[in-house]
Amino acid sequence: MDRPHLRDIPVTRLAAELESRGFEKAAPRAHQLGIAIHRDGARSFDELPRLEFGREFRRKLEESFELTPRIVESQIRRASDAHTTKWLVRLAGGDAVEFVMIKHWDDHTLCVSSQAGCAMGCTFCATGTMGLRRNLAAGEITEAIVHAERETGKRITDVVFMGMGEPLHNYDSVMTACVNMNERGGHGISRRRITISTVGLPHAIRRMTSERRIWRMHVSLHSAVQETRERIIPVAKLYQLPDLLDAVREHQAAMKVKWVTLQYVALPGVNMDEAHVEALGRELNGIKYILNVIPWNDTGTGGFRAPTWDEVRAFTGRLRSLNCPVKVRYSAGKREGMGCGQLAAETRSVVPSGHMIAPPGIFSA
Ligand code: SF4
Repeated sequence: MDRPHLRDIPVTRLAAELESRGFEKAAPRAHQLGIAIHRDGARSFDELPRLEFGREFRRKLEESFELTPRIVESQIRRASDAHTTKWLVRLAGGDAVEFVMIKHWDDHTLCVSSQAGCAMGCTFCATGTMGLRRNLAAGEITEAIVHAERETGKRITDVVFMGMGEPLHNYDSVMTACVNMNERGGHGISRRRITISTVGLPHAIRRMTSERRIWRMHVSLHSAVQETRERIIPVAKLYQLPDLLDAVREHQAAMKVKWVTLQYVALPGVNMDEAHVEALGRELNGIKYILNVIPWNDTGTGGFRAPTWDEVRAFTGRLRSLNCPVKVRYSAGKREGMGCGQLAAETRSVVPSGHMIAPPGIFSA
């Protein structure tokens, strides 16, 4: 029998996994084990509390499962604002990913990566220039929480999938990771504090809806004009805007989401003029949404430029006609390359070359 990594197993299935391998008292053991490896962050069998898990139990566990650390810290950077910390970590096989912790009062939000690189190729995003190198396993995603908590001594209160990768393109691992973040026998993070940010894959949004996945979802719209979307999000060529917006409407209705959050990266000369504001008003009919305007962080990609404060103010002034809540979100740590869309610079310098790069065309509805 193969030895799955304990962190890759949904805690809701842990008891069945133990039972199938002949463990006794599987249900209470599974609960204790889930807490030990997720919330308490044990990274090896030796780190399991000896009082709760006797020698014989640990020996048998070791025969049946893996529990080795799979991310190794390569670099850690703290922003000058003292609220943001970024880790660059190496994965088995040599690829690297980044994750960022942002402190806000007593809350600590971890922005996690779901893939090494990304196949979506968004032209404003540094990660998009890397291509897809590989998906992360569920346990590699949640190990970022364990790593950040051990390093800082702080409890992670919120998780956002806004690091490297498109989370819905690594659907199964991301959903398992979310279950283990949320369950009381896992990290115990509130479902309202787990956010999946997607570039907008309608078939995957519909799958989330039909499976009644309860995590918060943010959709990176960036434009309500199909041609502009295609220019800045190449994968949008495969998914027409009406289909995406229908998937969002269905999700909002079925999951009783009061407000859908739509992300809108502000790119002067591209998506901030009157025509784009009118398109928002026209296309988003029937969706109750909050618009998160993110002034572009300079990533040196796509030939774009960052908007000035006056340009952002003029744009949000035009948005008033839409009668929807608008938030302007400046990225924490952006001066140090830790902001939205900036994750990749250090990664590119450590990853080996020659990996497969998946073109956007691999997606199908
Ligand atoms: S913005 Fe997100 S989906 Fe687009 S390339 Fe970057 S990481 Fe991928």
